[in-house]
Amino acid sequence: MSALIQNSKLKSKNSPVWHPYTQMKNAEIIPIVRGEGTYLYDENGEQYIDAVASWWTNLHGHAHPVIANAIAEQAKKLEHVIFAGFTHEPAEQLAEQLLKRIPYHNKIFYSDNGSTAVEVAIKMALQYWSNQGEVRKKIICFRDAYHGDTFGSMSVSARGVFTQPFQNLLFDVVFIDTPNNENEIEVVEQLNSEIRKFRNSEIAAFIFEPLILGSAGMLMYSESALDKLISICKQNNILTIADEVMTGFGRTGKFLATDYCENKPDIVCLSKGITGGFLPFAATTCTQKIYDVFLSDEKYKLFFHGHSYTANPLGCVAAVASIDLFETENTFENISRIEFHHSKFAENLKGNARVKEIRMRGTIVAIELKTDESSGYLNNIRDKAYQFFIQQKIILRPLGNVIYILPPYCISDADLKKVYTAICDFLKET
Ligand SMILES: *Cc1c(COP(=O)(O)O)cnc(C)c1O
Repeated sequence: MSALIQNSKLKSKNSPVWHPYTQMKNAEIIPIVRGEGTYLYDENGEQYIDAVASWWTNLHGHAHPVIANAIAEQAKKLEHVIFAGFTHEPAEQLAEQLLKRIPYHNKIFYSDNGSTAVEVAIKMALQYWSNQGEVRKKIICFRDAYHGDTFGSMSVSARGVFTQPFQNLLFDVVFIDTPNNENEIEVVEQLNSEIRKFRNSEIAAFIFEPLILGSAGMLMYSESALDKLISICKQNNILTIADEVMTGFGRTGKFLATDYCENKPDIVCLSKGITGGFLPFAATTCTQKIYDVFLSDEKYKLFFHGHSYTANPLGCVAAVASIDLFETENTFENISRIEFHHSKFAENLKGNARVKEIRMRGTIVAIELKTDESSGYLNNIRDKAYQFFIQQKIILRPLGNVIYILPPYCISDADLKKVYTAICDFLKET
């Protein structure tokens, strides 16, 4: 190994690689060579606890042999095939596996990542109306939403630091406040009044992150509020799109966050955990009713969307293997175990002078710190906290002044405790 690669700071300066959501000036980039379970190892053999599941993607641990083998076997058989006009067993099998868990949906459209899953959902909703000769172009979303980094998904996201440079190019949407403990009645009223204002004939869909707005800082709201919002849309013939990109695959304690609701969304977006964290892959599922509107003798009614790697067989087999692991490894027992420890940790932090609010749901616990600066993604606490935890070989990547834990489900009790202790130490020492 060259001396250059051994010095991580030097490497970032000399590398041509540009990293996501990173100010590259003085960025310290850590080269990782190996992963196993909850751990990542750098080239010096240092072990890190991956307490953010590598950007919310990992479920069963790094380099899980069952998923790794499934990919290796498939790669030797068929690595990829054009998905227009062709299909393959892994795509059919995954569709069956996923739709079994979303029984109110009948169809699945594959793509590559969370942003594309959302693009597909938005375009599906818009073309659903245009195929029926209706011009509906308004989409309702939460004021703090995050749905991805492509232009469509940015358009239905918060107007904030992430989208500021592109603001003028985003299409108009209808924002309603993000629900919380205090404003649920008002949010319901806002939705009703927006629907009245546009006499619902211009509104195509309502898109939401169910129960937890991740990138906004793990903002949480109740299933009863969500249920109510979905039911209002249903009564008014407005499509509902659940962006389960972060919340899917057990994150909130159930397979989907919308499993907590009586009313079901018309479209569901899945990515991040879909392959257990192995490959870029996504799916958008929908009802038969939506699908049927695209069936026609008129060619222009076909769904105008597709990516080169649609339904990549390696992604499909990784996803099937990951879903199987939920049963063979009793993953939901692990999820309950994490939930149990998180709630004890949250209990202990109650009344801490540095803590403004603690939020938790399923395997996610978030601690919002009090701060003098206006809270937000670029808050200085973030850098301090990140450095503090990295020095302790724990990967936590606070969202502004919100420190959160979102671990792989295989994390041990001992490692969870290490993470809790590190957070308590940070609160004490800084
Ligand atoms: C991360 C995320 C996305 C975007 O997914 P990418 O794979 O990063 O494009 C969309 N929606 C939600 C809710 C997310 O958390």
